[in-house]
Amino acid sequence: MSTGPRTLFDKVWDAHSVRTLPSGETQLFIGLHLIHEVTSPQAFSMLRDMGLRVRFPQRTYATVDHIIPTDSQLRPLSDDLAEAMMTELERNCREQGIRLFDPASGHQGIVHVIGPEMGLTQPGMTIACGDSHTSTHGAFGAVAFGIGTSQVRDVLATQCLSLARPKVRRIEVTGKLSPGVYAKDVILAIIRRLGVKGGVGFAYEYAGPVLEAMSLEERMTVCNMSIEGGARCGYVNPDDTTFAYLRGRELAPQGAAFERAVAWWRSVASDPGARYDDVVTMDGAAIAPHVTFGINPGQSVGVDETLPRLHETPDDERAGLAEAYDYMDLKGGQPILGTPIDVAFIGSCTNGRISDLREAARVAQRGKVAPGVKALVVPGSQAVARQAEAEGLDQVFRAAGFEWREPGCSMCLAMNPDKLVGRQMCASSSNRNFKGRQGSPTGRTLLMSPVMVAAAAIRGRVSDARELL
Ligand code: SF4
Repeated sequence: MSTGPRTLFDKVWDAHSVRTLPSGETQLFIGLHLIHEVTSPQAFSMLRDMGLRVRFPQRTYATVDHIIPTDSQLRPLSDDLAEAMMTELERNCREQGIRLFDPASGHQGIVHVIGPEMGLTQPGMTIACGDSHTSTHGAFGAVAFGIGTSQVRDVLATQCLSLARPKVRRIEVTGKLSPGVYAKDVILAIIRRLGVKGGVGFAYEYAGPVLEAMSLEERMTVCNMSIEGGARCGYVNPDDTTFAYLRGRELAPQGAAFERAVAWWRSVASDPGARYDDVVTMDGAAIAPHVTFGINPGQSVGVDETLPRLHETPDDERAGLAEAYDYMDLKGGQPILGTPIDVAFIGSCTNGRISDLREAARVAQRGKVAPGVKALVVPGSQAVARQAEAEGLDQVFRAAGFEWREPGCSMCLAMNPDKLVGRQMCASSSNRNFKGRQGSPTGRTLLMSPVMVAAAAIRGRVSDARELL
């Protein structure tokens, strides 16, 4: 255990450490395990084969998000495989006494959207989920890990994980963001600077005035993409913004227990004088709206920049850049502004929350979706959809020519019917632009903030949303 002023990461890790394993890894107790239909069936069947039951069903919550169609969620689901996976999840949850947030519950949604909105995600927790973007929950000052199927089995069986302790890098974003610049731009700029492998072996602590001024939803967007920068997890220290978000949430502590929890939550924040393995500082005022142009989230530029030329690129990045240009059919020196798009997708666990839809609607109301562009808005959860509909945002989007869908992961991963076709170019508010990520092996993805997606939808090409805000 470390002594002296400690980081949040050190405090949470030490508090949950069961023992040091002979391998040198730590056996870490996991406070909250979130599961979904795609990475859990095999884990449950391994558990069954071993004759084990879920160790802490009361610390385990399930939802259905990856495969669920977003056009209609009436049962049986139109996709047979999706129906089979849904049925399997229902059976596993029933047999093991796990609470399932299915569409009938009124709480269904993307796992990283519903955990926070139900009040399950809390400061000082360790959280695990069989999805890479579990780092999202770090926005609350939790230490949250995306895990693989065999680790899902381990957590189901023991509520523990064996993990190597990462180092901690503090990323301080100073100053103030300019109007029209969002959390998505901040994290894209961070990954651009540090690289997609820059965070390997690290937990990222995001800090500084820009993070302090962000809402919880914005902090979730930043933490969500920690994994895209190679970090094992990412977090923001809890503060009054965090506590105000959690107050009154259904599964957060209530009444006097909430006040006691706030005292504990405050205490887990990093101490002044805590030592970090690395510190990086960035000027928030210098960050512009960002757009990716390549095949990993580190390949991005400000919307008013031109794409990097191969001969001006460091040797170790040139081959990757050439591959990206070849796949994306783009070239160095050209502006990203004006790149034609075929599809616009607003949604995902990065940017499918109510604040994202509110901002995107501000742009959508300024025009109509361009001819030939297919535009989708997919709320991150049923609660987000209800709130958006109560505010009339669905009508704003529909009037502009967007499709208003049911909650789910949709075109982020395209494990459902929402897929790109052929070489389609998609302006997307999601988090990954890997080759084939959106369902077509040759489909192309440009990552950007929800307002930038809305602007691209209306103009039919990559545009500077600041002109429409
Ligand atoms: S929206 Fe995308 S990244 Fe998020 S949980 Fe779903 S598939 Fe994973």
